[in-house]
Amino acid sequence: MSKRTLRKIFLLTVTLAIIVNGHFVNSTNAQSQSEYIADFNGVSAPIPVNVRTAPSDTARIVDQINPNTRVQFSGWTTGSSFQNYWTNAPDNRWFFYERNGVKQYVSSAFINGNPPETVQNEPSESNTIQFSGISAPILVNVRTAPSDTARIVDQINPNTRVQFSGWTTGTSFQDYWTNAPDNRWFFYERNGVKQYVSSAFINGNPSDASQPTQPTQPTQPTQPNRALVSYNVRITTDIPALVQAYENAIRNWNNTGVVWLSQSQNAPITLGEGYARGYDGYGWWQSYGSNVTGGTVIQWNRVSQRSASYLEALATHEIGHVLKLNHRSDYSIMNNYWLTRTTKPTENDINDLRRIYSR
Ligand SMILES: [Zn+2]
Repeated sequence: MSKRTLRKIFLLTVTLAIIVNGHFVNSTNAQSQSEYIADFNGVSAPIPVNVRTAPSDTARIVDQINPNTRVQFSGWTTGSSFQNYWTNAPDNRWFFYERNGVKQYVSSAFINGNPPETVQNEPSESNTIQFSGISAPILVNVRTAPSDTARIVDQINPNTRVQFSGWTTGTSFQDYWTNAPDNRWFFYERNGVKQYVSSAFINGNPSDASQPTQPTQPTQPTQPNRALVSYNVRITTDIPALVQAYENAIRNWNNTGVVWLSQSQNAPITLGEGYARGYDGYGWWQSYGSNVTGGTVIQWNRVSQRSASYLEALATHEIGHVLKLNHRSDYSIMNNYWLTRTTKPTENDINDLRRIYSR
């Protein structure tokens, strides 16, 4: 067959995959979530687990699963988020089975077990091509599917070269460098399972001339010109561990590319040490007209025994408040529960900053 014929067959296959997508059906519930059909099983947490009429924490409870019970499911969807019983990470998946022809839903947060990863059909085979790229200077999420709601299975460290084996399309993100919408997802395989990274956070492109309209190769950012907002700050503590934490925190925020913090002697924003109102740290911002001031305090006698990475996370979190960020309950440096797990702003935080400062 000629290359042109192959191309036609490929495009036809792509179209069919999107239309038919054998494992993919529309749900009938009001949330209009997608449901994925897959046979799998899992073991319930060692507590009674509610079974509901819909994938929502407000849906009616119709049954309970006994602790530590193996349960057979026929598919999954997304809905209300619960903290995973084992990992504490937010989990918005719901597993379902049918009883008398009616779907019944169990939050995945209380089930140890996962649907097979192959339920997301996409024309990936046709887009198989080896290429590499460098991740943005932030932690970049790796997910089970090309979607911003798919489960996060890994993270790529900042500025890391990554080898990919193909690409597909999915949820759109703003490209880290160009801000243009980018709906491509790059993937690689780990233990035979595809893992997906939004192309918006990768500097690099598949070198396939036949690819559909693509964003142009992003150019590397030149700091601080592309930052949406700049602030002058000064570190006012002499405690070496805190100075180090603040310096790392400043670098963490500058690496987002959205804000730029410069240290200068008479800066109105102070990063210091002192009484933190009953917390390990406290951060605030105030505005007088167009003038924004603010600052942070970290209460040394509460944190002097903590690790350097916790102090960095704490300093990054408090500076986040100076940057007008509020607390979040999901994967975020602004989630107090994550300060022992990450030290850097996440995609969620960067999106919040963009929303605040691009107005
Ligand atoms: Zn806070």
